Parts: sequence; structure tokens; C-alpha cells
Amino acid sequence: MPAGKTPTDPDFPGMGPIKVLKRFIRGSTLFCLCVFVLAQGPGVVQAQEPVASHSLSFPRYKNQYVHVDFKIPVSAEQIELSMPNWTPGSYLIRNFATHVENFEARGEGGQTLELTKVSKNRWRIETTGIRELTVSYDVWAGYLHVSSSWISSDFALINGAGVFLYSDASREWPQQVAVKKQASWNNIQTSLRPGPGSDQFLARDYDELIDSPIVIGNAVEYRFEVNGQGYILVNTGETGLWDSERSVRDLTALVKAHQSFWGVNPFDRDYLFLNFQLESKGGLEHDHSTVLMSSKWAMRDDTDYIKWLALVSHEFFHSWNVRRMRPEALAKYDYDKEMYTRELWLAEGLSSYYDNLLLFRAGLIEVQDYFDLLATEFRNYETIPGRQVRSAELASFDSWIKHYVPDANGINSTVSYYRKGSLIGFVTDSAIRRETDGKASLDTVMRRMYSLHGPQGQGQGNYPPGAFEAVVESVAGRDVRMMVENLLQTTADPDLDKALDWFDLRLDRAPAQSAAKLSGVPPPTGFGLTWDKNEDLLIVQHVILGSTGAAAGILPGDELLAINGLRMTSNNFDLKMQQLLAGEKVELTLVRHGQLLNLSLEVQAAIPETYVILLNSDIGRRQKTRLKAWLGRDLRFRK
Ligand SMILES: [Zn+2]
Repeated sequence: MPAGKTPTDPDFPGMGPIKVLKRFIRGSTLFCLCVFVLAQGPGVVQAQEPVASHSLSFPRYKNQYVHVDFKIPVSAEQIELSMPNWTPGSYLIRNFATHVENFEARGEGGQTLELTKVSKNRWRIETTGIRELTVSYDVWAGYLHVSSSWISSDFALINGAGVFLYSDASREWPQQVAVKKQASWNNIQTSLRPGPGSDQFLARDYDELIDSPIVIGNAVEYRFEVNGQGYILVNTGETGLWDSERSVRDLTALVKAHQSFWGVNPFDRDYLFLNFQLESKGGLEHDHSTVLMSSKWAMRDDTDYIKWLALVSHEFFHSWNVRRMRPEALAKYDYDKEMYTRELWLAEGLSSYYDNLLLFRAGLIEVQDYFDLLATEFRNYETIPGRQVRSAELASFDSWIKHYVPDANGINSTVSYYRKGSLIGFVTDSAIRRETDGKASLDTVMRRMYSLHGPQGQGQGNYPPGAFEAVVESVAGRDVRMMVENLLQTTADPDLDKALDWFDLRLDRAPAQSAAKLSGVPPPTGFGLTWDKNEDLLIVQHVILGSTGAAAGILPGDELLAINGLRMTSNNFDLKMQQLLAGEKVELTLVRHGQLLNLSLEVQAAIPETYVILLNSDIGRRQKTRLKAWLGRDLRFRK
């Protein structure tokens, strides 16, 4: 368990007798007088709040099962227990109950109780005459993912939404977790408060329980402090490829940059970076921790390491933006079904804008690295047709059916609210600086949002639709607000050139074409397709609408064999394409569903693979001032 926690922490269970009594009177008709016990000596009657207890054990860990015993007090004739269908931060119905087996219910005398499954994730149990219910079940945990649980002989990752049950009443109660470790597992890491016994933990309610992943095994811990706040890097799967000293030094710089950005430390205990070096990808944010999936090799390659730092930066930014300040529509989680919000461009997109920017402000990347990351975002946005189909608000709303389940036509049918949100962040930042002559910025807006709608603000951690736009107007005026509204509600493209111009920067949208022109060679060509290059095979991955490939009827999944009868392989394709000219007619030989197919089509200019942000060669004082105000430090360029 993380250092610095004590079982007697005053925050648990978080409410005194009067508040408990009020809650009892207000809502809990289910709960009988047995909750009143004598306490604190004769004559003092105090309400003892019911507690939901969960015990985890791993007798079948070799087959990736966790066994759960769930115990709660009951008083009604029936009770219904549920398992969430999704977990906050990952907006997809995941049907966690799929992996529940051997479900049984017993009374305090050990008698088996009658139960009925009433929906895919809900069980009704007959509880007449009993005061305490114990439910036992097994969960298969074999999907290594930031939102799921995983068990293997060396460790277990428990993500609570797919493991712990709740009733409508019990989700509000304090929760207790007891973990029975396998003999070869030496430690447990979680941001949950320690409980009364060893390997026991406490949460103020069910929301906190499932917001607190638990790692059980032999992870390596690195604890560090920044301004008195404790942080722990918890590495699972670490090998000699990881440079722990450097990673802790870089995380220290990163958390400093974030803390100084927000100006408010939101944590009341150590914060955990739960890092899994298991050749997987992704991250998920929590109140006092984040789960990060990366590679053992991440520190052996500069690009991969920057990606890992950017992932950490993104998830850590969520500690404020979305964990403690989130759309009103997500205020009270409904674990049963989709919760729709049009504001994931803010929760995710603005976190994406700042994840890279704060890497630079923290001194972890060079300015050219930052410009390359920004230019890649610009390129990836402007080269997909889906940006003309869905607005940022609609893409947020449709997250449940689009973002987490991409298909071959995704680039034609939607835009990422991460990416468009990030670009909206950039152009809004620039517009605010322009309108206020550098006196305010998007940073000002974010901090004002947090003071108005963070935990201490009027919204108590939630903001209504339009709150961000209103704050933008209060900082930079009506015109900037109208620009933002247009970008959110329509498919209008952010004016990147105007936004760059404030910093005297320019965008080259076709650097490869420019370079070819300078060298006097033909510019790169293509068919408007992206390829899945698998060994020798060339399989069409995406067909970009409006391209010559789309006009000819090429489909995702087609395999390219030859152009004009000449054999193409993944090894020679790029070279051969360099010898074709835009406008030329060619015949492609493809395989579709096991059958040869010939299609005629026109070669087109290649879709640029990169964009480049250009800085004035004679950088002046005004430009330096504006860049420094935005980027937060003096510039140094790679030779
Ligand atoms: Zn995120």
C-alpha cells in the first residue's frame, strides 16, 4: 500500500452521527432499527451506517478468475444487485457482467437464497427473514485493458466496475474491500484508504470504490514529492530497459507544470501512476490515480518515450478536467446505460491540447518536438473527410457508437472529439491572446472554469452546457465566443493559419511536395487509400471519400496484387508509386473475397503524410514575446 496513509484517517467514513441520522431518516426505508447501536458509553445512541463489504480471493488465478464474496445488511423481502455496464472515462457499453459466473446468494445462517436474473447485469434475490446477505461469484479477468481486470500468475489488476456489485442503496454506503493475496504476490497498490486490517481498504461510497483500481503482485514503487504532495510511480512488468531515475525526474517536472497551471492541488492523499509495461496501450483517469499501458521498450526510443510522457500528461490533466470538473450530464453516474454529453471535446479535447503543451512547458521536449506534435494533429484533422460529417458536439454525443468502436469507414463518417477539441483549444487560445492583446489566454479560461465549476465552485464539480462558452466571452468578448460556438456546433474547420499568424508561425501543408519541387523530382502520388502492410501483403485499410480510389470502387479489405500487370508488394510499393505521375490512368489488380478483380483509375497527388510548422527565420522581439507567453519558456531549437 502507498506510504503516508493511516487507518484512522478522519476522512473515513466521512460523516458524523448527525449527518448519518439525517440520511437514515431521509431515505433508508430498507434499513431496520438494527443499525442503531449503543456507542460511546451509556445513554448515547448513535447511528452506525451500513457498510458494503467485498472480499477478493484468487484460488483459480491460473485460469484468470477472481472470487468475490459480497456482504451487505438487508431488511426488505427482495434486493436487486447490479454490475455496471460501463466505467467512467471510457464511454462504451462494455457489459462487464459477461464475465460473471457461479453466482450464489446466502443468508447469515448459510442458507441458499432464491435468485432470479432480471436483466443482463442485474440479479433479484429473495431476502425475507434475513438480516445479512452474502453473494459469492467468480469473475473471469483475462482482458488486459485500462478499463478491465486482468489476472495472471505474476499480478492482478482489479478495475472495480467489472468486479464489484451494488444495490441502489448500497452504492451510497461506505465500502470495504479485503484482499487475500496469492502467496507469490507481495504487495498491493491502490489509492483507496487503508482499512482496519492488513490488506483491507475503505471507500466512502461505491463511486470511489470503482474509481480506485487495485494492483496486486510485485510491482516496483517509486515515491516522490512535489511541494509536499506525494506521488508514486508503480511499475508492473518493469525490466532493465526502464530508467527509473530519469522517469521519476521527468514525472516530477511534469506534475510541477500541471500543478502550477491549475494553481490548486486537488489531492488529499498520494497520487498513483499505475504503469503497466506489458506491450499494451492506453490510459484511464481516476481521482487519485491513473492506469497507464505502455511498452517495456518505451524509454529506449525518443518518440515512444515522448508518447508515454504525453499519455501521462493527458491522464494527469484529467485530475482537474473531468474528474473534479465535468459536464453536468455526467454528474451522477448511471452505470446501467449510456450517459450522453455534447462536451467531451472539452473533457478530452482540451486535455489533449494541454497534454503536449505542458510537456514543453515542463521542459521535457524541445520546441521542434512540440511543433511536430501540433502539426501532426493539424494534418490528421485536415486530411479526413469525416470532419465534414460530424461537429465536435455531435462526435462527443456519439462517442458510445463511434469513438470506441472505429470501423473501416470511420475516417469518412466522424471526427475525433479529442482531435477537433484540441484544435479548437489551439485556435481559441490564439484568439483570446489576440483579442486581449496577450493579457489573457485559454489558461485564464480553464482556471476560471475550475474556480466556477470545480469542487469549490457554484457547480460543485459540474458545469452546465454553454459554461465554457460563457467564460470565453467573459474573458475575451462576444466575437471569440461566437467563433467557439460555430466550431463546436457545426463542421466548420478551425482557422489554423490565422491562429498561427498571431505567433508569426506558418503551416506547410505539403512539405514532401515542396521538397520534391525543390529537387526537381515528381511529387509523391497515391490513390487516396491507406494500407495495412502485413509482411508482403498490401491490404486496403481505409478508402478516403473523394479520392480516385473511392471513385473506382476500391473497398477496405481489398488486397492489391499488381499495377498495370506489375507485381506490387509492401516492400516495393512506395518505390513504384514514386514513378507514377498524378493524372496518369492505371489498372489495379486486386483480390476481393478470394477472386481477382481489375479496376481502372487515375493516379492522384498523395495525401500529405506530414505537415510542418515554420518559424520566421529572422525571429523578432514581438514574436519571441508571444511565443514565450504561450509556450511558457524561452525557445531553443535543435541544430
Ligand atoms: Zn482522456
